[in-house]
Amino acid sequence: MIPVTKTYLPPIEEYLSYIQKIWAGGQITNHGPLVRELEMRLKEYLGVKHLFLVTNGTIALQIAIKALGLKNEIITTPLSYVATTSSIVWEGCAPVFADIENDTLTINPREIEKKISKKTTGIITTHVYGNPCDIEAIDEISKKNNLKVIYDAAHAFGVRYREKALVSYGDISVLSFHATKIFHTIEGGALITHDDEMAHKISYMRNFGHDGEESFFGLGINGKMSEFQAAMGLCILPHINEVIERRRLIHNTYDELLDFDRLSKPVWRGGANHNYAYYPVLFQTEQQLLATRELLRKNNIYPRRYFYPPLNTLAYIKKQPAQVTEDISRRILCLPLSHDLKKNEGECTANTINKSIKRN
Ligand SMILES: *Cc1c(COP(=O)(O)O)cnc(C)c1O
Repeated sequence: MIPVTKTYLPPIEEYLSYIQKIWAGGQITNHGPLVRELEMRLKEYLGVKHLFLVTNGTIALQIAIKALGLKNEIITTPLSYVATTSSIVWEGCAPVFADIENDTLTINPREIEKKISKKTTGIITTHVYGNPCDIEAIDEISKKNNLKVIYDAAHAFGVRYREKALVSYGDISVLSFHATKIFHTIEGGALITHDDEMAHKISYMRNFGHDGEESFFGLGINGKMSEFQAAMGLCILPHINEVIERRRLIHNTYDELLDFDRLSKPVWRGGANHNYAYYPVLFQTEQQLLATRELLRKNNIYPRRYFYPPLNTLAYIKKQPAQVTEDISRRILCLPLSHDLKKNEGECTANTINKSIKRN
């Protein structure tokens, strides 16, 4: 069976040696030595000033919303994983959807401008599939309208844009280190900011607001990463370039073999590298996608409809149109991509798709 992705697990001896360190030190959570070491290594790897590990990417989004004091309306993208929207609703704010660009599939800055009201306090949007948003335009709009910007960079680990880590843009960027992401800590996430005051706020907000044992800086929540999670990250980080390289090879196999007279791909923004986190392809019709998925399943190949349904159609939010997203979401499919996928498995997947779209 070929799943859409497979969790990378490091050599077990490497994980065990960290477990032995945990046993020797006796500390298993509460900002222990492994969490501190992973924070330091990630800041180095990404080249960012402040980075705070938390227990998952969703709590990172929620802390970001709280730390920036966002209220009322937040403009967001309808093409993302559900956590981008649900964290806004969970924090008592209203998501207002701005439609996407039909080529890059990231939020359309012109649509953001149309959705700004007196109640808008911020923008939360996703570098979907690791493809950077139109950062310059969003920057200009946010400055002109006094809005805060949070980038959901859950797909963007290792992407560099204009000589800097993509996660260094915005007031806060958020990463997810869930087991399905290219770099993971089993469950985990991080907040990145260049602002010292914001950094201080995040540092106490993730730890109940504590200022020492008996006083508090302010409101907080439990967002702490454990030593076991950090140990996984410390084991994987030295292998990350090799993981990305193996994904690149499968990516290239798809690029070479797929029938791009009938299929298309999102346009990658200039100035950014790929991290090969996903391989999204667009079919001409939803019917063609469904027929192809059926044939792939018969061959034990399991792609996923990332991202379907569009988030503007969720039952718990006020209905809002987003025509481009609704069209794209029906026609986009993410193909299997992992460090473990063999070249012949990639070839088989591509050939099966080509066969299906000739018929449908
Ligand atoms: C995975 C993901 C999240 C959620 O991260 P968790 O660590 O699973 O909580 C948020 N946004 C996007 C775009 C994601 O893909």
